[in-house]
Parts: sequence; C-alpha cells; structure tokens
Amino acid sequence: MSFKSTDKITAFVDNKCYKCERSYSSPSHLINHMANIHHIHLKPRPQSNEERPASEKYDFTYQRLATYERVLFECPSCWFYTYPNLQKLAKHVQNFHLNLIPENEEMLEEDTSLNKTVDEQDILKMWDEISNSLKKFLSAK
Ligand SMILES: [Zn+2]
Ligand SMILES: [Zn+2]
Repeated sequence: MSFKSTDKITAFVDNKCYKCERSYSSPSHLINHMANIHHIHLKPRPQSNEERPASEKYDFTYQRLATYERVLFECPSCWFYTYPNLQKLAKHVQNFHLNLIPENEEMLEEDTSLNKTVDEQDILKMWDEISNSLKKFLSAK
C-alpha cells in the first residue's frame, strides 16, 4: 500500500493515441502504435528510465484498476500531460515533437528584420539628404 497525501488528486495517466483514441499501457507501446498505424514517428523520452517527476497537485497512477479521481493524457515523448483533451495532446505533439511548423518561417522572420535595418538606414540617409538640402535652401535665402 502506498501513502496517499490527502490534498493530492489521484490521476490515472493514460497513453492514448490522439488519432484513433486507443489506449496503451506504456508510452513505448503508444510510440510503436503511432509509427506503425499512423506513420507518426515520435522519439521516446530522453529520461525514459526515470519516473514521472512528482507533482504538487497529482498523485500519478498508471494502473487502470486503481481508484483515481481524474484521467490525464500524457505525451509519450516528454513529461507533458493534459486534461483528457486529445486535441490539446495532438497540438502539443505536433508543435514540440513533429516540427510541422516549416523551418523557413523562422528564416523569413530573420529576413524581415534584416530588411528593416536596411530600410532604417535608407530612411536615415534620405533624412540626411533632405535636411542638408533644406539647410542649403535656408542659407541661400
Ligand atoms: Zn492510433
Ligand atoms: Zn511531449
């Protein structure tokens, strides 16, 4: 019997596939399933031998038969977990582990910042020219 502190919520951590809602007993089973069935290739957790870090809010359990008050879905690739909301889990996996955001988006950002400095320099140059000719115009009078 394990000690259960009274102010923590016992949460069953489920390894659920966000594509077809099948549950698996371990993250590695889920990773295998996603690769084989959905061709989504996720890396196992780098700390896969370790226990999930303790939470101040939850007592995590991995046993479906244990009494629990809440179900959480966990990410098989890191310690992320979420309320049973498959869309949230899918979003997390896509953003953090699948790199669906095209890489050139970042490069585009760099490009625009580069253009901006060039533009600013051009404007400063233009302003110099304007003020110079204004000075000339004023002194000619
Ligand atoms: Zn699936
Ligand atoms: Zn993750």
